[in-house]
Amino acid sequence: MQKFNIVVHGGAGTIIPERLSQEMEKSQRDALRKAVERGQELLRNNASALDAVEAAVVILEDCPEFNAGRGSVLAHDGSIEMDACIMCGKTLDAGSVAMVEGIKNPVRLSRKIMHHSEHVMLCGDGALEFGRLHKIEECPREYFKTDYRHAQWEKALKRGVVELDHSAEKKYGTVGAVACDLYGNVAAATSTGGLTNKKYGRIGDSPIIGAGTYANNRTCAISCTGFGEFFMIGVIAYDVSCLIEYKGMSLEEACRFVINEKKINHKGDGGLIAVNASGEKAIAFNSQGMYRAFIANDGRVLTEIYR
Ligand code: ASP
Repeated sequence: MQKFNIVVHGGAGTIIPERLSQEMEKSQRDALRKAVERGQELLRNNASALDAVEAAVVILEDCPEFNAGRGSVLAHDGSIEMDACIMCGKTLDAGSVAMVEGIKNPVRLSRKIMHHSEHVMLCGDGALEFGRLHKIEECPREYFKTDYRHAQWEKALKRGVVELDHSAEKKYGTVGAVACDLYGNVAAATSTGGLTNKKYGRIGDSPIIGAGTYANNRTCAISCTGFGEFFMIGVIAYDVSCLIEYKGMSLEEACRFVINEKKINHKGDGGLIAVNASGEKAIAFNSQGMYRAFIANDGRVLTEIYR
């Protein structure tokens, strides 16, 4: 019988125990676990990999401790602009949004674009207009405003840096999910607020197919996290897929090679999660930590943060 699988991440970076309060760690682990459990339940009941990754990412977008949806970071001008993407490995259809404000679950908007638009990627006001036509839920600014993100933004402004948190403390926090269903179809989804203090309508790798997100039944489904500029330049998700397709590498080998050996010109801090159509999974990161949750061999859901 085909094996289903799901893996989620909540971002990579300099995540070390001293920097996480017990409360924060608990709430992050709870959300990661809930996301995998929800996906697991759907997959067990014959749902598609697409449904599973969407549902898992929605749970993480709703958790204010991750940099996506509700907990998204602030841009230079104080706005909260989110990027997201979803891709189906069976059809190679994809939907993606960039620079959207006020959307509760950008991954849901991506899915709508995938099914109901003749385009793949929409941004800004156009994406919002499309969302309204399709009754995608919007929330007022207060919903997204967390003291924690506001403090990070103020610090980043003072220091004049563009990043996720603070330079000494690179915590990414984007969320993503990859799944393989009982029919051997894979899917991937990624959602993010991007980088704190980002400027000029910056868009990261997460909504870019082949950079931060990719899915293809012939190879694998991938969701990346890390400093987006380097993931775009390295076309990281597609690179992993190509190593499997053209070089015959195993899923594990391809993920490790790209993240640990190519290392995106030695600057690409971050990681990725992947599954293939046989239900195998791989998790690779070159940063100090990566929030992640997956189904262990004995069927239990495990959450891990550190190395
Ligand atoms: N890759 C995301 C971006 O650059 C950030 C992250 O993974 O946390 O927008």
